[in-house]
Amino acid sequence: MKYVVVTGGVLSGLGKGITASSIGVLLKSAGLRVTCVKIDPYLNCDAGTMSPFEHGEVYVLDDGGEVDLDLGNYERFLDISLTKDNNITTGKVYQSVIERERRGDYLGKTVQVIPHITNEIQEWIERVADTPSDGSGEIPDACVIELGGTVGDIESAPFIEALRQFQFRVGEENICFVHVSLVPVMGPVGEQKTKPTQHTVKELRGLGIIPDILVCRSEHPLDTETRQKLAAFCHVSPEAVVSAHDVSNIYRIPILLEEQGVSEVLAKEIGFDLPKSRPLLDDWIAMANTVDNLEEVIKIAMVGKYTGLSDSYLSVIKALQHSSYEVNRKLEINWIESESLDEKMLKEDPEKYSEAWDVLKSADGILVPGGFGVRGIEGKIKAAEYARVNKVPFLGVCLGLQIATIEFCRNVLGMENANSTEFDENTKQPAVVFMPEISKTHMGGTMRLGTKPTPFLVEDCKIKRLYGNKSYVDERHRHRYEVNPELISQIENAGLIYVGKDETGQRCEIMELNNHPYYVGTQYHPEFKSRPGRPSPPFLGLLMAATGLEI
Ligand code: GLN
Repeated sequence: MKYVVVTGGVLSGLGKGITASSIGVLLKSAGLRVTCVKIDPYLNCDAGTMSPFEHGEVYVLDDGGEVDLDLGNYERFLDISLTKDNNITTGKVYQSVIERERRGDYLGKTVQVIPHITNEIQEWIERVADTPSDGSGEIPDACVIELGGTVGDIESAPFIEALRQFQFRVGEENICFVHVSLVPVMGPVGEQKTKPTQHTVKELRGLGIIPDILVCRSEHPLDTETRQKLAAFCHVSPEAVVSAHDVSNIYRIPILLEEQGVSEVLAKEIGFDLPKSRPLLDDWIAMANTVDNLEEVIKIAMVGKYTGLSDSYLSVIKALQHSSYEVNRKLEINWIESESLDEKMLKEDPEKYSEAWDVLKSADGILVPGGFGVRGIEGKIKAAEYARVNKVPFLGVCLGLQIATIEFCRNVLGMENANSTEFDENTKQPAVVFMPEISKTHMGGTMRLGTKPTPFLVEDCKIKRLYGNKSYVDERHRHRYEVNPELISQIENAGLIYVGKDETGQRCEIMELNNHPYYVGTQYHPEFKSRPGRPSPPFLGLLMAATGLEI
């Protein structure tokens, strides 16, 4: 097994995840089977209980793992499917060690960070590195490990120590350390400054890890002088100082690394053959060019919450992008804070209200993504109504399906007070209800999570065609509520059909409205399985309908 460890310095948010994924692409292009591990040095056992507002979206895996969004980047870049164990957190490691201590596994010993926690981390990494992830059932050849946070944080210290030991455990010829840093530009002449990188490398070396490759984030390409200076002061060869400057789209990043010889450096560091022709890289160049050459704009209104941080909806954005490339349109996402569409806003801030409605009305398609909690619900219901009545293409994801159902019950079935018990526990007309099997006392990992099959129940419909007329789909879930089973036949008789239900035939999974260009909702989150070149069918349908294409 070959390992590449990606650490970061100076500040967070430098794009370590994209760097790690891009390195994965280079390894894959050389014919290696690649898997990835993300280490998050926080005490939460997983990302399931973390606010997407603070931390970005909670990404969901096939096995129901609620994990850091970087695992989404790995899955999309490398076209793999990971498990919850591929995301290691401090919480998970301590939980496992403490459980073992209680079982008596360390009987007689004092249980300590070194060696017990550090050993647990190393064993964990080796175990997941050996887990097949590309669908072939074969054990991977290489594992990219990304350490979250910045080097020097108290939180990451046990992980750094574990990785330091790990290089001797697996042999130095099998491991390569990549450090991602920042090269800011200062002063009137725009000098590229190397000092922050010098400091962070010094810190890393002090902890016993000597970086083999330095990836330097900067606005513009590194000057030759900067590169030489970094090489000299940080004790890496000039070929191993890589400029990760701003590029036009993310598909260029693996190419950017490739052009600077990163594949050669990796091949030398960890010992693998670099084939002459690597067609995978041509695919990436083609994709990057496609994205740069899109011209005609398509506008999708995204009616959500948390719109200050677009990472909160990262996979949804990716799924929309993948679909927009397929219909040859340049995607423009127009964010609408759903509260602004609510009639209450008309009184509070009429200007904001009319602006929000103008944006909604100018959209070619409307999307209501997943979400939790009552805030902004009425505005989302208004958006669903607008799309239904005016025959504007609409996709509701998870909460979006529930919203569309509530809207339909209120305005078509005349159930004025229809609501979800999530927003009004005592509603007289529950259109969406708490699922019986879900825990009311525990929050972490207790939703209906992960991949579950959804058989189609109709011969033909748009969404089934989009899925290539398959008899069932396998998509990922994350929810606590469902459409009230008692209302299904009433709703369906009025024209909103639940064309896919779970294997019991009771639980609504996919809805489609009759006599509408595209009005679809899914109880699952199709965005998590969208890939460049293989866009998620419900999203593709939205974009096709928004472009005026027949489905
Ligand atoms: N809050 C809703 C539920 O729990 C929707 C969840 C979601 O959109 N992920 O069922």
